[in-house]
Amino acid sequence: MLAGRHKSIKKGQALLVCEDISVHVARKAMKNLRLRVLPPHGEVHLSAPHHVSTQAIQRFVRGQLAWIRKKQAEIAARPVLSEEMVNGERHRLFGQEYELRLCEKYGRHQITIADGGILLLTVRPGTTIANRRRVLSGWYRQQLSLHLLPLIEQWQATIGVTVQACTIRQMRTRWGSCNITKGRISINLELARRPPGCLEYVLVHEMVHLLEPSHNERFWGLVGHYLPDWQEHRAALESGLFPCRPSEEQAWCVYMVRCADNTLYTGITNNLTQRLAAHNSAKGGAKYTRPRQPVSLVYVEEGLSHSLAAKREYVIKKMATKQKRQLVTL
Ligand SMILES: [Zn+2]
Repeated sequence: MLAGRHKSIKKGQALLVCEDISVHVARKAMKNLRLRVLPPHGEVHLSAPHHVSTQAIQRFVRGQLAWIRKKQAEIAARPVLSEEMVNGERHRLFGQEYELRLCEKYGRHQITIADGGILLLTVRPGTTIANRRRVLSGWYRQQLSLHLLPLIEQWQATIGVTVQACTIRQMRTRWGSCNITKGRISINLELARRPPGCLEYVLVHEMVHLLEPSHNERFWGLVGHYLPDWQEHRAALESGLFPCRPSEEQAWCVYMVRCADNTLYTGITNNLTQRLAAHNSAKGGAKYTRPRQPVSLVYVEEGLSHSLAAKREYVIKKMATKQKRQLVTL
């Protein structure tokens, strides 16, 4: 019921996860594979001809991981966020990049967005770097709350919960948090720099906690129901530019096998070879696949933590057969 819609797997487009890298894959009428790493977030896009198999794409991406990381590091090394607060520095607001222009004059400190992607910072002559930074973070806070208020109202009506208070905080380790008993939500100030979808995902995530406190199936089902694209936003949050890698071992994968009767089975494992052998043996494997042998591997997302693999498994299992087939033939 709750996880019925999954817009994230659009026709001809899908998200492929390989180790810590998410790749947006689009099918096109073209001859060769084309891989791009795009600023400002180092997002990875792959265009592939229709005839290339999923496995071939996965192999290709795996072979390009070092290059992808190098490109992402180059993009990250650009003077974004250096925050010396000088002319020419790049700063972002809701994923949009702006060039900082410093204007020193007497009067009120303020920030305005000017034509040509200019972020105009007006401060009194002699204002220190620390104080210029304070003006910027005050402005981020203001922009974030301007975005948050209508979002909270809209999601309160949709989800049917009440947010008693929402505070914006600088947090080192979390994007958001929720005090369930008091109905209070905290949002990380850093979200002012990220694409608006990230803010919406974090807000919806915290608001869904008011219905379901733990990260269980019901919780992810609700999140998927309200925000079918949540995984894309989460991937943007965890993109290479601000590495936020989970500390658990990323040795897990979610996989699909095609059974002898042409049906698909989805599972997770940290040893694919062994698991596949088990699926095709008399014992072990899964109850479902035992009378449907032999099975063959048709889809893998590798390099996941156990919890992410379990979440992906849940999402894939909830997909309609047609969507699963789309993922396989990608
Ligand atoms: Zn949570």
